[in-house]
Amino acid sequence: MAAEALYNYKIKCPFCETTFETTRMRPSAVRVKEQQSDFGNIFEGECPYLYAITVCPNCSFAARNSDFEKIRVSAEAKIMSASKQLRVSTKPKPDIFKLGPSTPEVAVKRFELAIAFYKMRYVMEMGVLANMYLHLVWLWRMAGNKEKELLAIAQAAQVYEEYLAKAYTLPESLGEPGVIYLIGELYRLQGKLKEARRLFESGLGSKELRDYPKIAEMIRDKIAEIKADMEKNPQTA
Ligand SMILES: [Zn+2]
Repeated sequence: MAAEALYNYKIKCPFCETTFETTRMRPSAVRVKEQQSDFGNIFEGECPYLYAITVCPNCSFAARNSDFEKIRVSAEAKIMSASKQLRVSTKPKPDIFKLGPSTPEVAVKRFELAIAFYKMRYVMEMGVLANMYLHLVWLWRMAGNKEKELLAIAQAAQVYEEYLAKAYTLPESLGEPGVIYLIGELYRLQGKLKEARRLFESGLGSKELRDYPKIAEMIRDKIAEIKADMEKNPQTA
């Protein structure tokens, strides 16, 4: 099953023009077992998060699979200069370039590299960046590393707040209420119940709320959960 889910894909790095293979997961093999409160999924069988990033083994350029070949090289002077510097360094090839089944720890390294390159881009979409930070949360959770997961949650919350404050367009699937819900939930997961409650309540005040009935329900459930937790542990209130 796992062997069929994964395949190696031949691709050319747009910056150093090296042709190499990268392991990808077939979308048809993705089986969601459970959706978590921060939109992360638990999967049956292979996890697509482990195969979402392509990394060039020659110059280390890394991007989401969907962006890797689409990037306009002529517009990306900063990335070109990083690619040139990195391709002359003679460090041994780390496991981020390995083909075949991967692990959450390796996927974290790939995402971190993709984030670093994404920040060099001529035009950066905050939503894409925030979503990559959110993947770090899910990956550390998958790895069972609670400490790193909490650090990633704090970082993702910060990037999503910046996104909400500056973004012109929010993802249609979430809308303003969904993004506010997510930030609130990232606070709740850190045990910051007061901040979480403040955000959830502001989500209920969103003008777009009526277009997102499912999110509205999720927000109300979380407010009820927080109220119950605060009654049980009055020191958190
Ligand atoms: Zn390259």
